[in-house]
Amino acid sequence: MTLSVSNLEMDIAQACNLHCFGCCHYSNYGLKGVIPFSQGQEWIAAWAPRVTPRAFSLLGGEPALNPDLIQYIVFAAEVWPEAVRTVVSNGMYLHRHENLFPTLKATNTQVEVSIHSHDDPVYTARSHGPIQELKDRAAEHGVRLTTRERKTLFHVTYRGYGPTMRPFTDENPRQSWEVCQNKRCITLWQGRLWKCPPIAFLRLILERYDLVSSPDWQPYLEYLGVPPTASDAGISRVFALGEEDICGMCPSRLNLIKKTNVTDPFKFGDPLPFEVVRGQLPD
Ligand code: SF4
Ligand code: SF4
Repeated sequence: MTLSVSNLEMDIAQACNLHCFGCCHYSNYGLKGVIPFSQGQEWIAAWAPRVTPRAFSLLGGEPALNPDLIQYIVFAAEVWPEAVRTVVSNGMYLHRHENLFPTLKATNTQVEVSIHSHDDPVYTARSHGPIQELKDRAAEHGVRLTTRERKTLFHVTYRGYGPTMRPFTDENPRQSWEVCQNKRCITLWQGRLWKCPPIAFLRLILERYDLVSSPDWQPYLEYLGVPPTASDAGISRVFALGEEDICGMCPSRLNLIKKTNVTDPFKFGDPLPFEVVRGQLPD
């Protein structure tokens, strides 16, 4: 018997065409690569007998950068036909996939387009046309497309930036989980289920900045998610709405940072004009 679980997500690309500072998948740091379908298919197939998600999302990074996106959409529909299945994208490259809308329609898959900034004229100029075209094509094919207008602030789960990244030391994992904005984002990565994107992709970003041996991060690198061979209780713990020890790496108050540099890939290493607004709710 498979476990019925609420929400499952899978990044099929680490790369992204945007670089939103504060991205909880660390894609703003110019991570590279996509997960080939031959690999991702194995991961999904291994979990199919263990969990039945009520919602399953293909995302990233930018999932449209994965040339195998269509195969993922079709396979997810075969494996979890009852799930609400969604492609979450920033909308700027989906037009590259020729058969996207007929496939979405045939598989009853929806699209969610994230709108990341209203106050960046370059972003607005570049994104408006492609997003409007997606809306038109979705309407034409009878595909459900929603836009999710992200607030102008991100909740950033670490201190510092790039090479100076460090975990928080608030020592209150419960409170960190309470304010967490990733608490329902259980992630399929490397064939395992991880509690959230910040812990799933932690090693990737620490490797990028040569921080893997930093003593500050060691307790968190020991977390390896759960494999499909785990017990039902082990799997349920990942989906449980509650903190784990790893939540100690995150801030116990909202750590909101104004989004900057959403479009220029070369700015991510610069000193940033970001503004930290701890403890306030987004507007
Ligand atoms: S669009 Fe921005 S928030 Fe979304 S994955 Fe890319 S960098 Fe991250
Ligand atoms: S480690 Fe815990 S608090 Fe931090 S992002 Fe993940 S679920 Fe949220």
